Amino acid sequence: MKKLTESMTTCDLTSRRSFLKALATAPLLALTDAGATRVFASPRSGADMILTNCNLITMDDNKPLARAMAIKGANIVGIGSHDEMSQFIDSKTTVLDLHQESVSPGLIDAHSHLIAFGQMQLKFVILRPPQVNSFETLRKVLAKAAVSRPKGEWIVGRGFRDFREGRFPTRHDLDDAVPNNPLLIIHWSGQFGIANTMALKKADLLKADLKDPYGSAYLRGKDKLPNGILVHYPAIYSVYNPPMEDHEQIEAASWAMKLFAEQGITCVHDNFVPAQKAQTYLEMAQRSELPIRIRVYPYIPNLERCKLLLSKVKRYQAPMLRLQGVKLAIDGYPLMYKPLDKNREHLVQPMHPRDQFEAIIKAIHDADYQVDVHAVGDKAVDMTLDCFLKVCGNSAECRRRRHRMEHFPFRNLDSIGRAADYGVPVCSQPEMITVRGDELLAKADRNLVNTITPIATFIKEGAMICFGADVPAFPSYLPLDSVRTAMSRKTEKGKQLDPSERISFMEGLRCHTINAAYSGFDEHDIGSLEVGKKADFVVWNKDLTKMSSAADLSGLKPEATFVDGKMVYESENGYVLRRKKHL
Ligand SMILES: [Zn+2]
Repeated sequence: MKKLTESMTTCDLTSRRSFLKALATAPLLALTDAGATRVFASPRSGADMILTNCNLITMDDNKPLARAMAIKGANIVGIGSHDEMSQFIDSKTTVLDLHQESVSPGLIDAHSHLIAFGQMQLKFVILRPPQVNSFETLRKVLAKAAVSRPKGEWIVGRGFRDFREGRFPTRHDLDDAVPNNPLLIIHWSGQFGIANTMALKKADLLKADLKDPYGSAYLRGKDKLPNGILVHYPAIYSVYNPPMEDHEQIEAASWAMKLFAEQGITCVHDNFVPAQKAQTYLEMAQRSELPIRIRVYPYIPNLERCKLLLSKVKRYQAPMLRLQGVKLAIDGYPLMYKPLDKNREHLVQPMHPRDQFEAIIKAIHDADYQVDVHAVGDKAVDMTLDCFLKVCGNSAECRRRRHRMEHFPFRNLDSIGRAADYGVPVCSQPEMITVRGDELLAKADRNLVNTITPIATFIKEGAMICFGADVPAFPSYLPLDSVRTAMSRKTEKGKQLDPSERISFMEGLRCHTINAAYSGFDEHDIGSLEVGKKADFVVWNKDLTKMSSAADLSGLKPEATFVDGKMVYESENGYVLRRKKHL
């Protein structure tokens, strides 16, 4: 398989498949508009499918509710009452009587990593709590995994969070459990790793004069040698970057996309894509094997790699797959004005000095791509907003370019106001409350923790807030978990965080549909049910207008998921047949 960047420099690219266009000079907005081509002309006036007798939650402010929808080819051609839609019925139209079931736009997950999710679930040792919550439980799980592997074979685990011991283990804590295999374990967030001694030796990193890679660190013991703790991706991947064969990547992507489609997701923004993984999406798109839409944001670790990517990559866009922007990170453990946790200050490392950070953002901006920054701490968020404003020049230009931010969990009213003013889409993970709420309550400023992921404030201030599960960092890929947690604001142990930040179900649905579409320049095509848009929608088993508390979501699930008017998931065989109305 050719690397993505190589293949994209070849001039045969456009001839390989018609949907793949090398548009090296088109500005991003023009590019997005090009993707919104709508075809209405047809020799047949009838629709291919009519949904009738249903509660359509459209997410279109001009017509929020409707009873019937007509679909022709990949597009919605009519929305309204059954009588209004009857004009689209001819002898070839399939009419589905949905018996009052609810229909929403297809859900959009604006931040997840599908191939990495598949890789973790299918290939790695899972180290999530509560199974792993102490050095003893960690060692037990790792030792068990080592028994079935030949000596010398790499073992990779991921998902550990906190340990009873109150610190990360070092290589010395892991060597006994896995003495004969090189071992790399990765924190749930993906930001930290721990290698055993054999792994460090194998990577030739067990030396006192070792230099830290850019934006990254090898923590040291008293003996000045690396103690096995690795801060940020460059240090982690310098030890070992678990390889995946082409077929394994396709298997991982297919596995993840199937799970997502079952949850009503019709589009995913994959915001951490190395070139090889982007190539997998490209090849799947060329073979029409993408059941859901993918928007790709390749990750770059430094200015040099950023420039290399931008010099080689050519724009590609198609309804199912688009290179949307470029991703970078400014922090891992939150970069704060006041330390979040004094015991973890040694883990706080800005990934770039300010001048480099700004130069990277400017390079992406100048190349007409959407910048996508991972920023968690309040200081990291402000640095990002400062740079966006500086490269754009003014807030109107910021709004036009929509450079976006991932995570932004702390409630700083000034920063939220600026995000709203600059039109910066913010992709939030309400599951932060479940996953980190209890841990942060125990160690950080209670007022600060009480207001994490302040979705109601983002909405009130007019910021463009959307949701993404961020698997495999976060454990749950379920979009309804994000919505439920945003509605309840309860931690894993059931503690209530600031109830004034709770939102309604419909606000949560908006974050997973039209707002998420906006964050990826897709709002002209998807994210709401409107005439002329793509027929991406979900049929639900319960009435969505009755979801007034988080508890109401229990048992709520999709009956069927459609992309481009075609069913990509149905809850049981024959769903469509059962709903087919005989005319
Ligand atoms: Zn992520």
